[in-house]
Amino acid sequence: MQKLRYESPSIQKMNAGLMNKFGTRTEYEAVKQIDGVSVKSMIEKYGSPVFVISEKTIRRTYRNAVRAFTTRYPKVQFAWSYKTNYINAVCNIFHQEGSWGEVVSGFEYRKALGNGVPGDKIIFNGPEKTEAELILAINNDSLIHIDHFEELYQLIDLADTLNKKPRVAIRVNMDTGIYPMWDRFGFNYENGQAWQAMNKIVASGKLQLTGLHCHIGTFMLSTEAYAIAVRKLGDLAWNAKTQLNTLIKYLDMGGGLPSANNLRGAYMPAADMIPSIDEFAEAITGALLNIGFANSELPLLILESGRALIDDAGYLLGTVIANKRLSDGRKATIMDFGVNLLFTAFWYEHKMSPAQDFTHHTEDMVLYGPLCMNIDVVRSSINMPLLNRGDHVVVHKVGAYNMTQWMQFIQMRPNVVLIDEQGNTHLIREAETLEYIEQMEKMPAHLKTIEL
Ligand SMILES: *Cc1c(COP(=O)(O)O)cnc(C)c1O
Repeated sequence: MQKLRYESPSIQKMNAGLMNKFGTRTEYEAVKQIDGVSVKSMIEKYGSPVFVISEKTIRRTYRNAVRAFTTRYPKVQFAWSYKTNYINAVCNIFHQEGSWGEVVSGFEYRKALGNGVPGDKIIFNGPEKTEAELILAINNDSLIHIDHFEELYQLIDLADTLNKKPRVAIRVNMDTGIYPMWDRFGFNYENGQAWQAMNKIVASGKLQLTGLHCHIGTFMLSTEAYAIAVRKLGDLAWNAKTQLNTLIKYLDMGGGLPSANNLRGAYMPAADMIPSIDEFAEAITGALLNIGFANSELPLLILESGRALIDDAGYLLGTVIANKRLSDGRKATIMDFGVNLLFTAFWYEHKMSPAQDFTHHTEDMVLYGPLCMNIDVVRSSINMPLLNRGDHVVVHKVGAYNMTQWMQFIQMRPNVVLIDEQGNTHLIREAETLEYIEQMEKMPAHLKTIEL
């Protein structure tokens, strides 16, 4: 018998992604319908890819959040964060439920007005507000949240010129034990800037210091961070009452509550890791009631929650374009949607479900989008049943930020469909067309003709 030649052993890196003590999940369920409407029929009618939003889920999620706070505190108001999803039909569901509007630019401000939100129920946040936008907001009696001293002085000036006393709040940033600190927005608490800004506002006699605002981060996992933020804003509000003779009418705790998405690389699934909305409400309202205000002087609690109220209600339906083997043996599947539509794929491991029956065999695979761009990776490692060209996939919990941060890069933006509470579908944003994209372009005369 011939002796076999020795081959040196080699160690090969597993590309299967992060495992945890639960192992990788290999059980899948086909998701063939959303709110009773078949996925296949929606793709046939509205094309692929297509965003689908469940009105039922939005209303249920919103009412649950409102309940969590109103059962614990007497004065609560939500304000819909436009940048999270500013498709008008979506905004109006929140407004029908009683939500005010929270905007961070003049463009969003005008969108809120256009949707019928009264000016005095619009909160105007953000570092950039032009003079024309500030004048509009002052004339509409909106709640203007000041971001920096330049804006503060400009507002004093405008108040003088317009002979009005605008309602303002300052945005406060602070150390809540969560890092990096979002200290680029507003006035810092610890170094005394916030208190200084409040002093200047009151001393000017030109502005009504109505509220205090913070937005301490996004996808926050700590309820204690909010309690700390309430205590710090509460301290400022108490000092305003006792030293500036000014009763602060509202504390706006911003947004930042997490949705149930899995964070990339997280050890635990989100469902086992994130506190519930009730736990956040308990931390916030508990700290509020402890500030020391009498019942009649309790500030209104404003919440600008975005992500937590809309992520669950959004789905992206797509189709498999092709399968291939990468050079290292991994299976790769190419979808007709990528990071152009799923901006949140950069930090979430979105749950994906096949939309049709499948065999029990599964494989680790990379899910790519359709872009000619190497970073167009929807999931770098996912264990999925085998998918064939033409099969459909449902991506879950994509309602927040994707329909505002989507890119018109290589591909145009697709249809967005709303399923109402009766199970009827409505097109709420049409797929873009070449004409739409090009209507903003201008061709200089000397470039009009080409000859090849
Ligand atoms: C983005 C933003 C929100 C919403 O944040 P979420 O983390 O989505 O809840 C609220 N307020 C302000 C000022 C924001 O910039």
